[in-house]
Amino acid sequence: MKYNKVIFDADNTLFDFNRAEAVALTNTLKHFALPCPDDLMDFYRQMNVGLWQQLDQQEIDIKTLKHRRTQAIFNHIGASTDADEFAHQYLTQLAQCDFLLPGVSETLTRLEPHCHMMIITNGLSQVQQPRMNNSSIKGFFKHWVISEEMGHAKPAKEIFHHSCDLMGWQANQEVLMVGDNYRCDVQGAKASGLSACWFNLFHQKTDSTDHDHEIRHFNELLSLTGLC
Ligand SMILES: [Mg+2]
Repeated sequence: MKYNKVIFDADNTLFDFNRAEAVALTNTLKHFALPCPDDLMDFYRQMNVGLWQQLDQQEIDIKTLKHRRTQAIFNHIGASTDADEFAHQYLTQLAQCDFLLPGVSETLTRLEPHCHMMIITNGLSQVQQPRMNNSSIKGFFKHWVISEEMGHAKPAKEIFHHSCDLMGWQANQEVLMVGDNYRCDVQGAKASGLSACWFNLFHQKTDSTDHDHEIRHFNELLSLTGLC
């Protein structure tokens, strides 16, 4: 099947989120004149992934995530400053980091005349809205749906079906979801009746066979849409 209805995840699918996190965290520490030890980024990523998993499983809410994340950083670097102010500054910095992954801009430019495209992201409104509004790729997407605003997050069917409704699409296999997160993007889309392309950006291994397609570079989407 050649697709012309495509939904994209945002972080680590269109945007280089790992780079964004590193830059935002470094700038925030600088803003508060706090130290940035060499191992902080690794520590932060590991801790942050764990917190987002707890959020996914509804063990904590978003406010708790933000608070624990900041507290863990402070404990790690032995600093104390206003945690809410720090968290706010970090998200403000993150919203300015609209780094695209390789091939995204060129590929979207080629897809645009042939495909209808939108975004579903599980991110925070405070980060996603300004970042999309400032981004050079904004014009390619008719809608972007943010989980925090909608009240449902991927992999819930509600957010996929709501997004298809917005685009005037039937939620069926003609719609392709493209994302890096196997559970949220791939399994969420499949359970909602859509087709799924796993963007295996980090060359992970899986025994799961839920995905219809797997790509490792963004420009491989051109062949899925019949453009090469
Ligand atoms: Mg992602």
